[in-house]
Amino acid sequence: MNDTDVLIVGAGLSGVGAAYRLQQERPGDRYAILEQRAAIGGTWDLFRYPGVRSDSDMFTLAYPFKPWRGEKSLADGESIRTYIRDTAREAGIDRHIRFDTTVHSADWSSADQRWTVRTSQGEWRAKFVYLCAGYYSYDQGYQPAFPGLADYAGTFVHPQAWPEDLDHAGRRVVVIGSGATAVTLVPAMAETAAHVTMLQRSPSYLTALPPRDGLADTLRRRLPAGTANRIVRAKNIALSQGFYQLARRRPKLVRGALRKMALRFLDEHAVDEHFTPTYEPWDQRLCVVPGADFYKAVQAGTASVVTDHVDTFTEKGIRLRSGAELEADIVVSATGLQMLPLGGLSLTVDGAAVTLGDTFSYRGLMLSGVPNLAYCIGYTNASWTLRADLSSRYVTRLLTHLEKHGYAAAAPTAPASAERRPLLDLTSGYVKRSIANFPSQGVEQPWQVQQNYVADLIQMSRADLARDMRFTPAHSLQEA
Ligand SMILES: Cc1cc2nc3c(=O)[nH]c(=O)nc-3n(C[C@H](O)[C@H](O)[C@H](O)COP(=O)(O)OP(=O)(O)OC[C@H]3O[C@@H](n4cnc5c(N)ncnc54)[C@H](O)[C@@H]3O)c2cc1C
Repeated sequence: MNDTDVLIVGAGLSGVGAAYRLQQERPGDRYAILEQRAAIGGTWDLFRYPGVRSDSDMFTLAYPFKPWRGEKSLADGESIRTYIRDTAREAGIDRHIRFDTTVHSADWSSADQRWTVRTSQGEWRAKFVYLCAGYYSYDQGYQPAFPGLADYAGTFVHPQAWPEDLDHAGRRVVVIGSGATAVTLVPAMAETAAHVTMLQRSPSYLTALPPRDGLADTLRRRLPAGTANRIVRAKNIALSQGFYQLARRRPKLVRGALRKMALRFLDEHAVDEHFTPTYEPWDQRLCVVPGADFYKAVQAGTASVVTDHVDTFTEKGIRLRSGAELEADIVVSATGLQMLPLGGLSLTVDGAAVTLGDTFSYRGLMLSGVPNLAYCIGYTNASWTLRADLSSRYVTRLLTHLEKHGYAAAAPTAPASAERRPLLDLTSGYVKRSIANFPSQGVEQPWQVQQNYVADLIQMSRADLARDMRFTPAHSLQEA
């Protein structure tokens, strides 16, 4: 059996960042990263659809310890994948990764003060488990059962499993969906397709951002990369958090501004019908369109939007509820992800199964009643890495605290109030479908997950590690 101090699950953006922090802060710790796939990069290696890119800026999505040197602020998937791999290689993290190793379960034994982790490649023992396994299933995306799909003679694809050899040049494409993936795919495919139609049940909010960051371009010419990066990062954090707060507090104002942006490219009728959502900005994630590429494709007539429902697939395409028919050579089902908590692991503590839906999230990174285990999730309203990095730094602080005080284990107790709130506050379909399987958040600190980087930055670095935490001394099993 393999034995280590810290076992990280997942070699994506978070797992590599976690390993970096561990190496820096706790160089004496042994660690390994277990990764089910054959490559580093997680999301940025898996998704290969045309145009795949970030929709948050790379100055905040990149690690604070490794400046983003790419030209574009909204970067393509391949550049992000390369950036994560370079980070892993340069820091020697890649030597710690065990690929093709799926983690199935983790069992905590208070008697051993260790986790036993079962994987597709045998068992591991570890003092601490850090799950950097993302938030969705890698097996397959979310696929609603469309009536008549078996009759369809064209090509039907899901963006999560994009066929490498799919050639869409000169073909008629329908993209079903209205989220970030659909608005990315439409202009990218429209460059060479005969025509691309986005078929949406209901509109989403779109906001256009420049693909390059003007301030970054200027500062990079005059300042060292690290300094330029820090300034642009601070500016982008302030802007994105400021915009989010404005959207939550003055939704009418932001709704008006987004509508005005759409009207620069499309007429009033089109904006009313296809770009006026029924919910408020940031009830669901805002879709970013770099350089207004989506609007420009619709304006140019290479793409169009239909707001309607699939009635049934036919041999040639899709019949809509309105009776209209969309003929298509290729249908892309950009219908989203299947959310999956904690990499799908089953957990036990001293033989008792942990039901995630019954647990509370402690500071958005540990679970009530579960010792020596943390998980890494990002923000919904800002770049993932902002929160992921705070979590990883918190974990290293906790490990140092355990060592300093001679503790073997730390387990969050239960919150004083049993009132529950969903972990994520988005109303998007993919969140609503599965949020009950995730831990809940409580109604006060340290049991709340706030979507506020600045508040987290202040609180997490100074947080009282002992608050609502039960420690077990290493030499005995008595409680501290
Ligand atoms: C298409 C798309 C675009 C996105 N764009 C943005 C964006 O612009 N900005 C932003 O902030 N966020 C974005 N996100 C969210 C995105 O997931 C994060 O940016 C970030 O990549 C998450 O990194 P991660 O390492 O936590 O998770 P992931 O990238 O999901 O990596 C998790 C890793 O864990 C592995 N793993 C999972 N379960 C197991 C297991 N049981 N055993 C072993 N290994 C396991 C996986 O194989 C994977 O390599 C996007 C997500 C998607 C799907």
